[in-house]
Amino acid sequence: MTKNKLHAGDTKVWTIGALLKWTQEYFAAKAIDSPRLDAEVLLSHLLGKERIYLYVHFDEPLQENELVQFRGLVKKRAARIPVAYLTGQKEFMGMPFKVSEHVLVPRPETELLVEAAIERLPGDSEAVFADIGTGSGAIAVSLVKLRKNLRGVAVDISAEALAMAQKNAVLLKVADSLEFLQGDLLEPLQKEENKGRLAAIISNPPYIPLADMPALAPEVRAYEPRRALTDDADGLNFYRRLLADSKELLTENGFFACEIGINQASDVKALAQKNTWGKVEVLRDLAGIERVVILWKRK
Ligand code: SAM
Ligand code: GLN
Repeated sequence: MTKNKLHAGDTKVWTIGALLKWTQEYFAAKAIDSPRLDAEVLLSHLLGKERIYLYVHFDEPLQENELVQFRGLVKKRAARIPVAYLTGQKEFMGMPFKVSEHVLVPRPETELLVEAAIERLPGDSEAVFADIGTGSGAIAVSLVKLRKNLRGVAVDISAEALAMAQKNAVLLKVADSLEFLQGDLLEPLQKEENKGRLAAIISNPPYIPLADMPALAPEVRAYEPRRALTDDADGLNFYRRLLADSKELLTENGFFACEIGINQASDVKALAQKNTWGKVEVLRDLAGIERVVILWKRK
């Protein structure tokens, strides 16, 4: 028995450095995408420290109870539970967002949508936007955090998601700038007094076609909320509904901005034309993929 195994009854003294090395190799053998990073994120989370701490304390031995808890996390990660659900947190726009299995883990691509909206929102203090399908609240919270005097309405059909968005708004100290409404897409906003009032409607809706679900990474397919991922159809149903109903809620200079999936730009542009939207913009993400569509109410 020469192999060092991370199992109960182990008598080896595990230093932080040795444990990271072992875990990285274990994750790699389990075909986890970023084995080193995941090992570091999980261990620093368990110790309640920043990642840099691990490097400064490479030769420090871990306590038995820490090893037991870490073993639990490693097992769960090897079963493909996303790291963010294990740590309960994900960074988005440089801010820490709480997440749980009830919300989609905010994606780096979605930062492009937030940046595009910030650049286009009017500077005046009366501006109000809506974030449709807010999930963790990543988009709505970031927008009011980054732009003073902006106010927003965050909508989700899931009560658990809304509760998480609200929690993030409180933790990031912007709860006073946001209102949270449970409902089906624009339905909670469709009142006479809201017509022509929104400066922007922003959404990262579920857009994965049902047919593409089996090909998703196990982390996404098995653990993220199905309702956050797919429309159970061709992936375009939420755009159909949002593009038909958003315009009447927007101000004359207002815009609709959404994230799209791979190869959906031409379909969304065709829908925009059908619903007589004005100017259309399509933005590419860092990977060069068409990722954000902006539709202006006016030409
Ligand atoms: N905005 C978050 C983000 O970008 O990280 C979450 C986006 S996630 C792709 C889509 C969200 O839409 C989920 O939170 C889901 O609960 C919500 N959703 C799904 N169907 C909905 C509907 N009919 N009305 C409102 N929200 C819906
Ligand atoms: N970007 C997510 C993924 O590819 C999907 C999110 C969505 O449907 N809006 O897993």
